[in-house]
Amino acid sequence: MHDLLISGATIVDGTGAEPFTADVAVSHGRITEVGRVTGAAQRSIDAAGAHLLPGFIDIHTHYDGQASWDETFTPSIYHGVTTLVMGNCGVGFAPVRPGQQAQLIDLMQGVEEIPGSVLTEGMRWGWESFGEYARAMDRMPHSLDFMTLVPHDALRLYVMGERAARGEVASDDDLRQMHSLLREALADGAAGFSLGSTETHRTGSGQMTPSFQVSGHEMNTLATAFHGLPYRVLQAVDDFSATRGDPREEQSRFDREYGKIEAMAQVAGQPVAISWMDRVFAPRQSGWLAEAALHSARRGVDVRLACAPRGVGTLSGLDTTMNPFIAFPAYREIMHLPPAERAAAMRDSERRALVLAQSPIKLAVPGSSMPPVLDFVIAHFDHLAMDMFPCVEVDGSMDYEPERSKSLGATAQAQGVRPLEVMYDFLSAGDGSNFIYYPIFNYASGDLSKVHDMLLHPKALYSLADGGAHVGTICDASSSTTLLAHWALQRTRGPRIPLAQVVEMLTRRNAQFMGLGDRGVIAPGLKADLNLVQLDRLALPLPQIVRDLPAGGRRIVQKSRGYLATFVSGQAVTENGDITAARPGRWTRGPGATGTV
Ligand SMILES: [Zn+2]
Repeated sequence: MHDLLISGATIVDGTGAEPFTADVAVSHGRITEVGRVTGAAQRSIDAAGAHLLPGFIDIHTHYDGQASWDETFTPSIYHGVTTLVMGNCGVGFAPVRPGQQAQLIDLMQGVEEIPGSVLTEGMRWGWESFGEYARAMDRMPHSLDFMTLVPHDALRLYVMGERAARGEVASDDDLRQMHSLLREALADGAAGFSLGSTETHRTGSGQMTPSFQVSGHEMNTLATAFHGLPYRVLQAVDDFSATRGDPREEQSRFDREYGKIEAMAQVAGQPVAISWMDRVFAPRQSGWLAEAALHSARRGVDVRLACAPRGVGTLSGLDTTMNPFIAFPAYREIMHLPPAERAAAMRDSERRALVLAQSPIKLAVPGSSMPPVLDFVIAHFDHLAMDMFPCVEVDGSMDYEPERSKSLGATAQAQGVRPLEVMYDFLSAGDGSNFIYYPIFNYASGDLSKVHDMLLHPKALYSLADGGAHVGTICDASSSTTLLAHWALQRTRGPRIPLAQVVEMLTRRNAQFMGLGDRGVIAPGLKADLNLVQLDRLALPLPQIVRDLPAGGRRIVQKSRGYLATFVSGQAVTENGDITAARPGRWTRGPGATGTV
């Protein structure tokens, strides 16, 4: 008797091979047969007309805190993800010294925009080492499997305390301690090590992160912690000092920063995934990175380019972080009202005239949690509005590749008004739940042609979904659905990517990168992590604001349509878009973890 039998689905098996029709049998959490399967089953699903894919592997999330209050990893669970990786970008919650928790919360608030009050109320501490943290998370029931990286910032703060917060150079003794803690964590099952060095990543109090621009010596010393251990990975986000210093030396700064990361991967003898975006303020950088990764490969260093399948930017609405109207005093007077009432108050013609006639106040003043970029956006609004788009559904899906002619800027030009007026009227319409989409990165050409080329780079990895992070600004945890729906099926503004190739990126490629040989492909003996999908119904409805975080915190959540069921270890964790009571998810250790050094 099979536990589960899925019959007649079109299988896209994750290897990149052409789709084929077959039955899939599952028992004890594993796929047992693929082909023509006979015999009875506890549960049988007639899947004719549907597609069966492996579960998706999301290598870039920030659920480190959310994992302790949300068993289900929303919203990633709505988007076919069955295994996710947290601890990215150098930030996380272990190791941590007693009394240091608030500092890590401040860091997570600043870098990943998860409100400190949410983390303070939601997190249940009770660990000090990495292993204790991972086990504490594993004791809680979860829907999805999760892996975790050792974050450089937490490691540095643990060992160096305030000296790390001040960005001091690590002493030999500091390095010895960090090395041994990292080694212990890697042996204990950490999936790898993450580091972040970017000017936009700051603590909640506005300071640079503890591992901002650490020395190559520190990185190489930490890299030796990987020696003699099984396969592990490195993850890095870096702005390559693009805008710090003489513009004419931008490329040499890139080479130097890239060289540090490459050297670390070389010393560790392991691959590294580097965040890869087409950045507006450093337009040549993405090309340098593409070249550099190929150079590294020729030198035997495995550098992967972690990229997003769509523009990376912000969503602006009445209740999001990036709402420009909060800079206008006449809007601030009604800010306390619930969104629907506020929208109605905004539609009052006197109020409207007043707000639009006022000069904006500066938001990122000392003591404020507002990001300085918001002041910049407001100051340059008329120009930037050419890249801002009202979020509307086209055929039931949000349009992530809108024509520039639909931008706030172009609409304003056509109507002979200011872009801010167009935005005002759009956000104050109806119940005040509209959003403006502003793809800051990857959209300089006004379409996704650049992203197309990025996704096809031989070193590309599907990444940057950022689940759990930037909860008031984005919802890119849905980007796995964009990769599948937009790129394989629905794109009209340029070439698509074959379905089998897209599925391989979402599944086997990331599984292999993480060293997970037991998943990512539909084949007998492998873990029964599966997505049953009605491809022709696949859609991404507009995001919504929900107030379901601890301490009444709000976040942007985007669901999906078309996923009939997602299975983890053979158990359905979602059915027709609803989360089930099953909690088969486990902490998934890196391969060959021993627990001892
Ligand atoms: Zn990140």
